[in-house]
Amino acid sequence: MSSARDDFIDILKNNQQSVTKARLSVFEALLGQEPLDMHTLVARVPKTDRASVYRAVELFERLDIVQRLHTGWKYKLELTDKFTAHHHHLTCINCGRTIPMNEAELERVIEDLAKAHHFRPTAHQIELQGYCHRCSAVS
Ligand SMILES: [Zn+2]
Ligand SMILES: [Zn+2]
Repeated sequence: MSSARDDFIDILKNNQQSVTKARLSVFEALLGQEPLDMHTLVARVPKTDRASVYRAVELFERLDIVQRLHTGWKYKLELTDKFTAHHHHLTCINCGRTIPMNEAELERVIEDLAKAHHFRPTAHQIELQGYCHRCSAVS
């Protein structure tokens, strides 16, 4: 079984991109994490300068390794479904926490919907915005 790291290296090679230390560090910082904002990501790869992190993320987005999760005008970064189990998010608009959710029932409804419209879906993202239990307790 190939690891996520091997798959990542394959994608770079197949796209004639070299496997640099900076790229590997950025990938590993995102692996198995909840979505990170750019600021946090930069802090997690201390040996890599900011510009290299930005460039790596830019490349990863182009190669469909990383995707953006938008919350208002802000966004967080996470690995695409190629590297993490397919899931959706609940995003708290107060504290910015992102809670992953995985609901088989929801997947079935989406499939049925697509079928009903003779539509062949290749990807979908669902995100709920609101207040997490901590934040709704305060207000
Ligand atoms: Zn919250
Ligand atoms: Zn889904």
